[in-house]
Amino acid sequence: MNTYARLPIAFTHGEGCWLIDGNGKRYFDTLSSIATCGLGHAHPAIIAAISAQARRVMHTSNLCCITLQEELATQLCQMSGMDAAFFSNSGGEANETAIKLIRQVAHHRQIADPLIVVMSNAFHGRTMATFAASDHPTVRHGFDPLPIGFIRVPYNDCEAISELARTHANIIAVLVEPIQGDGGINIPDPEYLQQLRTLCDQHEWLLALDEVQTGNGRTGTFFAYQNEEIEPDIVTTAKGLGNGMPIGACLARRSIADYFQPGMHGSTFGGNPLACATALAVLRTIEEDQLCMRAQYQGKLLLNALRQHSEDLPHVSKVRGKGLMIGIQLDRPNLVHMEDGLKYGLFINILRNDTIRLLPPLIMTDDEREWMTRQLISLLHQRSP
Ligand SMILES: *Cc1c(COP(=O)(O)O)cnc(C)c1O
Repeated sequence: MNTYARLPIAFTHGEGCWLIDGNGKRYFDTLSSIATCGLGHAHPAIIAAISAQARRVMHTSNLCCITLQEELATQLCQMSGMDAAFFSNSGGEANETAIKLIRQVAHHRQIADPLIVVMSNAFHGRTMATFAASDHPTVRHGFDPLPIGFIRVPYNDCEAISELARTHANIIAVLVEPIQGDGGINIPDPEYLQQLRTLCDQHEWLLALDEVQTGNGRTGTFFAYQNEEIEPDIVTTAKGLGNGMPIGACLARRSIADYFQPGMHGSTFGGNPLACATALAVLRTIEEDQLCMRAQYQGKLLLNALRQHSEDLPHVSKVRGKGLMIGIQLDRPNLVHMEDGLKYGLFINILRNDTIRLLPPLIMTDDEREWMTRQLISLLHQRSP
């Protein structure tokens, strides 16, 4: 179906940070194929985990115990401070799980017509509930009627949420991205998550964090909220968790997770042995190769270099980021297109027509970072209006 405006290029294989087309031309994957391949392409540990597991068994169904799923749940809970996990195949489904869980909590607390506070420029997925929670015109337009139960406030504005508390007694949760991804790499004030945590505690609301994009080491800690010394009640992740293998997770505190009873929620594929073996290899590699620290280190150098070299480029209005999640904001729409990147050997992504989104692989070397920076700066010079 005509759901994607596709680039006229097809990659036939990949190697670390690089994607290679049918003619053997190499492109630097500046976005880890949308924050999924944090360990790069064809990583030996991932190849080994997938092939070994495919030889044993790929799928056994959630009708029985899945040891690898239990191991993955245990590790993710240890890393997140949460107590229980549900596995899905995508970020949208992980968020759908969070929303259903929140609704169960509201039901048990006898809150009629519960509301989840969501943000301007949010992106939570493309299922019916998650696009209703999202704030993007193309994602929502023409799909009415939308599921109800969401109320929107500006991102990075705790005052607006306090205001809502005065007028709405039926709020049950706040759902928010620690850094907005698809909304334009929007980084809130340093105290934002802490203030949200305090607000949620005051009003007995749940704090649900969407770490589908920010999770798995991307921002320099395994989850972005770990930069802020808070703990959510629910956290979702997906993209980087499987390094290209479709897998998502919704993690929650025990007291909340226990509202789900057998039969209330499920997934045919979610958390199957193949996906879990892959995710376990991803977690092991992130740990062994200290990729969170690498993301911090490379992110700082990349951000500084981009800022420094774009000083004399008046059409670059802002370079912002945290770890390896960086946005280059241009002062007008449609100045740079993804096709322009290809001419410089870069596979790039543009958000909302005016922001180049960089999510390079966590395994990027110093040489690769410097090469990518040079190419990006040349591209920006060439596109100068
Ligand atoms: C990509 C993304 C989603 C949706 O994930 P899918 O796997 O495409 O369903 C949800 N939330 C955030 C923050 C995302 O970046």
